Amino acid sequence: MGKKFACKSIGLQCGFVAHASDENALLTQIAQHAKTAHNMSSIDQETLMKVKAAIEEE
Ligand SMILES: [Zn+2]
Repeated sequence: MGKKFACKSIGLQCGFVAHASDENALLTQIAQHAKTAHNMSSIDQETLMKVKAAIEEE
C-alpha cells in the first residue's frame, strides 16, 4: 500500500503522477517536481493543503 499524487487532481494541466510508500517521500517528490516543472521554488501553504487533500491511497 502506497501513496499517489497526480498534478491534474489539483487542476494543473500536467501529466505528472508521483508514487511513494509514504506521504513524506511523496511530498519530497512533489516539491522537486514543482520546482523543475512549475517554477515553484517552494510550495506555499495553500498549495500544500490542496496537495495533501489530493493524495490518494493505492
Ligand atoms: Zn506537474
